[in-house]
Amino acid sequence: MRKQVDITPHLSLMIGGTVSGFDVLKLPQQIPTFVSKAQKEGESIFILGGGTNTIFSAGHHQIRIGKMTINKLAVDGQFIRAGAGVMWDKIVETAVAHNLSGIEALSAIPGTAGAGPIQNIGAYGQEISHCLDTVIAYDTLVKEFIPIKNHDCGFGYRSSIFKENPRQFVISEIILKLKKNYNFTDIIDYPGVREYMSEHDLAFNLQNIRAAIIEIRSLKLPNPATLANAGSFFKNPYIDINHAKKLKKEFPDLPQFPTGENLIKIPAGWLIEKAGLKGIRVGDLGTYDKNALVLVNYNQASFNDLEEFIKYIQSKIQIMFGVELIPEVNIIR
Ligand SMILES: Cc1cc2nc3c(=O)[nH]c(=O)nc-3n(C[C@H](O)[C@H](O)[C@H](O)COP(=O)(O)OP(=O)(O)OC[C@H]3O[C@@H](n4cnc5c(N)ncnc54)[C@H](O)[C@@H]3O)c2cc1C
Repeated sequence: MRKQVDITPHLSLMIGGTVSGFDVLKLPQQIPTFVSKAQKEGESIFILGGGTNTIFSAGHHQIRIGKMTINKLAVDGQFIRAGAGVMWDKIVETAVAHNLSGIEALSAIPGTAGAGPIQNIGAYGQEISHCLDTVIAYDTLVKEFIPIKNHDCGFGYRSSIFKENPRQFVISEIILKLKKNYNFTDIIDYPGVREYMSEHDLAFNLQNIRAAIIEIRSLKLPNPATLANAGSFFKNPYIDINHAKKLKKEFPDLPQFPTGENLIKIPAGWLIEKAGLKGIRVGDLGTYDKNALVLVNYNQASFNDLEEFIKYIQSKIQIMFGVELIPEVNIIR
């Protein structure tokens, strides 16, 4: 009988199936062997970081997992080079300790460095794409390591070429170019952060911003170690300007963020809360009571339960606002 490895305990929402192989990748030179072994066995590859943005459907997957643990971290002037397995928050901590700015608002995002560019992680006005210089990746088509510069990563809102071509690139390292001169305008204009800093009488320096963001996040996001979740479950939808105007008439308190392309970004969490779905529980699944955008698994929710719950939320939002919610989380079927 072929080997079956349960992937569920490696995923922060604790919803998964079985896979046919699981290798730990500690060094870049292990990647080509991992890829060719999977190809020989007729398996797809899947690179797993911290599993905080990933769900597998129930049942068996002919997939070989490469658990990314490449762990080198070096600071060289304004540059930070990080192995893909370094915990993202360790990089932010290091940057702040060296007085380098550009990622402090991305404090406490769980997961690994290598996963950062996949969905272009972002929070409080910063995105990894703002300071990512180069990604070093093993291209499984040409079978060699290549440097990919920022402008070739196809970054958009929670998207990149890596997300669009999920099996092609195995990221082994990222290189960030950070700033020595601080510019906090984006962050301090972000709702919640400026208020927190002034309420607590905190000066605007990197250390205080990092501490404030960690505290703000801990108040509205569940810790996956104590309550299974995968962070924001849906992307914030972009709707056209006429649709946005119509919604604003009906819901004057709907926050709207123009994107400059006749498209308006609206917060998915606001829609879910307005529809009365914040803090609800159906079986073992629910929306978090402090943040409607986060789905939580209280105990042993199955993939089928999750699919039903996703459909339920999507249809409520579609009926009430005419807006389609699309999952941000990677769902492997
Ligand atoms: C409580 C909580 C809060 C969160 N807050 C935020 C937030 O504020 N902003 C935000 O953007 N995200 C947030 N997230 C989502 C998540 O933390 C990020 O998407 C993070 O980058 C995922 O990292 P990971 O290592 O766990 O990725 P995984 O879930 O392991 O993988 C995610 C995807 O990246 C691919 N991948 C991972 N590593 C590599 C690699 N080395 N090479 C190629 N592909 C790779 C995987 O194959 C998969 O497709 C949050 C999640 C949680 C649980």
